Amino acid sequence: MNLTECQQLDALDPLRTLKNQFTLPPGVIYLDGNSLGAMPKAAAARIANAVQQEWGTELIRAWNSAGWFEAPLRLGNRLAPWIGAGQNEVVVTDTTSTNLYKTLFAAILIAKKAYTDCGVSPRSTKNIVLSERSNFPTDLYIAQGLCAQHGFVLKLIEPEELPSALTEQVAVLMLTHVNYRTGAMHDMPSLTAAAHAVGALALWDLAHSAGAVPVDLTAADADFAVGCTYKYLNGGPGSPAFLWVHPRHVDSFEQPLSGWWGHAKPFAMAPDYEAAKGIARYLCGTQPILSLTGVECGLDTFAAAQGLGGMAALRKKSLALTDLFIQLVEERCAGFGFGLATPRHHSQRGSQVSLTRTDPQEPTRSSGAYAIVQALIARGVIGDYRKGDGAQHADILRFGFTPLYIGFEDVWNAVEHLRQVMLTDEWQRPEFNQTHAVT
Ligand SMILES: *Cc1c(COP(=O)(O)O)cnc(C)c1O
Repeated sequence: MNLTECQQLDALDPLRTLKNQFTLPPGVIYLDGNSLGAMPKAAAARIANAVQQEWGTELIRAWNSAGWFEAPLRLGNRLAPWIGAGQNEVVVTDTTSTNLYKTLFAAILIAKKAYTDCGVSPRSTKNIVLSERSNFPTDLYIAQGLCAQHGFVLKLIEPEELPSALTEQVAVLMLTHVNYRTGAMHDMPSLTAAAHAVGALALWDLAHSAGAVPVDLTAADADFAVGCTYKYLNGGPGSPAFLWVHPRHVDSFEQPLSGWWGHAKPFAMAPDYEAAKGIARYLCGTQPILSLTGVECGLDTFAAAQGLGGMAALRKKSLALTDLFIQLVEERCAGFGFGLATPRHHSQRGSQVSLTRTDPQEPTRSSGAYAIVQALIARGVIGDYRKGDGAQHADILRFGFTPLYIGFEDVWNAVEHLRQVMLTDEWQRPEFNQTHAVT
């Protein structure tokens, strides 16, 4: 593959026009849409309208007249088809961490209740929340807190240990579908079935899946799901997360954050909490309307993709982009110490590629990952770095490929920059070796 061939792939790409929906600074190749999606061009005017028109002139009437009150459910309904959820099953609200707290709490309570009902103490029997050691930290922290409160045990394993670790003691299998570090993707239907086979509930974090890979929560028969809208869904910095609950649990769920927005009649102002029917009970307090407006714009960029083949077309292009990146790094950056942390098999890969790097003279030790990413960023190739644990999980250079706005020539140019950074030892400069607060 050469530059001209990459340009030809772009010319033939049925999704190439979707890029026009985004503002991207000139000279930047943005490979971090897995962490913060690019800005939809429409967002500035749409959010300005929400400020000036809706807030500025409608004032409090806008809760009704501008559809503010329904925003969490309306956006949830727009997102639902992209994750295989039904209508009125998803809300966009709060953060992923908070939504995980709500859903894991619900799952633990369901498990406890099942065992209390048959007179068995949950402490001695079904009391394990099973997850992956390299799950995103907030998922593990939330689970640690909840397990401590409920007398449960958080058990952390490596992915290959999953089949043997799924025992009758497991109450909840809590996994992130696409691993944030490696981009490795779990088989959601088969793991959900394996969890159900031992009487466990399956809770999926879709932070790196929603808008990135095909997801069908209904077909997988999952129990709970949460995820971000500011990553592949382009909702804007800190935009509210989403939460889905299978209809079989939705009305039996006990809301640990029993705020007034989850009340059956919030404006009855009754002194006693009465949970709303359906997914609305997962809301807690007043919603951040300006941030939700950003989610609207992010989902609009997907609506445009719908007419061009939808998720199947996005997935096809995403795999072609990540395949090309892997191939070009292996061909053109050979001998620089890079390794592939992302699975080669398509069925096991999300929409990112993660590289490890070791010193070719000392091939057992992670070296240079942070500085190489900094040198690339200085050249306008924005990826990111994720720290390893020094033992099992190496430091990682992470590159997200968002088919909505990344093309094949971008991949070529990104790898060419990487090659230059390595050939010239540019990454060894002191300014690339100072750490910042946010990496
Ligand atoms: C990005 C990410 C989060 C972020 O959670 P916030 O509450 O939005 O900060 C959580 N879980 C996973 C797996 C993520 O990748």
